[in-house]
Amino acid sequence: MFDTLSQSLNKAWGMVQKDARLTPENMKAPLREIRRALLEADVPLMVVRPFIARVEGRALGAAVTKGVSPQQQLVKIVYDELVILMGGKQVSLNVPEGGEPQVILMAGLQGTGKTTTAAKLAAFLKNKGGRVMLVATDVYRPAAIEQLVVLGGQVGVPVFERGLNVPPADIAREGVALAKEEGMDTVIIDTAGRLQIDATLMQELQEISSAVRPTDTLLVVDAMTGQEAAGLVKTFNTTVPLTGAIVTKLDGDARGGAALAVKEVSGCPIKFVGMGEKTDALELFYPDRMASRILAKFDLNDFLKQYKMISGMGNLTSVLKMLPGMSGVSDKQLQAVEAQYKVYESMIQSMTRQERANPDLLAKMPSRRRRVARGSGREEAQVAELIAVYTSMRAQMQTMTRMMALSGGASGLG
Ligand code: GDP
Repeated sequence: MFDTLSQSLNKAWGMVQKDARLTPENMKAPLREIRRALLEADVPLMVVRPFIARVEGRALGAAVTKGVSPQQQLVKIVYDELVILMGGKQVSLNVPEGGEPQVILMAGLQGTGKTTTAAKLAAFLKNKGGRVMLVATDVYRPAAIEQLVVLGGQVGVPVFERGLNVPPADIAREGVALAKEEGMDTVIIDTAGRLQIDATLMQELQEISSAVRPTDTLLVVDAMTGQEAAGLVKTFNTTVPLTGAIVTKLDGDARGGAALAVKEVSGCPIKFVGMGEKTDALELFYPDRMASRILAKFDLNDFLKQYKMISGMGNLTSVLKMLPGMSGVSDKQLQAVEAQYKVYESMIQSMTRQERANPDLLAKMPSRRRRVARGSGREEAQVAELIAVYTSMRAQMQTMTRMMALSGGASGLG
């Protein structure tokens, strides 16, 4: 996710001249690059255009501050505007009044990950100590009910279903009544999806909604739908009032524009994002963290690239010696560092493309680490060590970017 966007933005920063301040002239090239980057990431033009105008306006209005380069200033402004674009703050699920159970209605087209996300959300809330129940109302596809039952079993949450012959709104109403009786904290209602928006689907959602009066109605959208994702949220929102969206499959090849555009296009906050197929791959959506991720992407491909760049300059040992603090280090120690990198490289080469782009997969799953260890002829502990080294490097990178953004903030913007 966001790979190309991050790279192109980096390119944009590189285009900022070393002039004293940002001017319409020296901003032209970087702004054009930022615009191109956003469009390529699947952010719709109707979002990109005003975004660029806001960035430009702020950049031109920004005062010159000693010690803050125009480049830092631009990074800070883009960071701020990305955070605003994505809604500013994390928006939590609504809290029901007067001891009623929290009722979450899940909506979305077929295949977007609605059922999986219902189970992920159930697991998320259960892990926070809640008593959660799932309700299956897709009376058109027996397989969908079965899928929810299986997922519910996996996350240890009961699933209420009435087969295929009861109207969805009745199933939902009964489910909520039962949940109340049993003192549940949360009921999550999975609904039928369609390949496309149609009147029956919308009417059914409205019926379920008025039967159970949900505390949250969340639309699940697939990041792979690209440009259309944000518009889809908007369309749904005009029929059944949504309280939020969940963007799924941000772990995959999706370019991520949906996450950037949903709020602006639909007015609907993204409350969670789906980052994988497993039931624990759901994250709260934090606009600021997402913006940091975009501005400071650093995955194992980058890790390897940096290493390759250094080794491509010749003997790694001699290069390392030139680094500050390394001059007193013996050749033997430096050779050890170089050998260590070779080990890292062999392990990274044994990873799948997805694992390199999303190393958290390896952090979470010992089975993946074991496979990589086998593939590279190393020990699982060595793979774990690589992930630990990488994770701490990534944290440093992200802190650096945030600091860069914050130091730009000293320019009378905040
Ligand atoms: P539904 O028809 O909307 O209920 O969709 P499903 O829940 O059946 O999901 C469709 C497919 O998307 C399944 O193969 C899921 O495993 C997959 N999926 C759902 N969420 C994610 C996600 O966040 N990341 C990835 N990579 N796959 C997901």
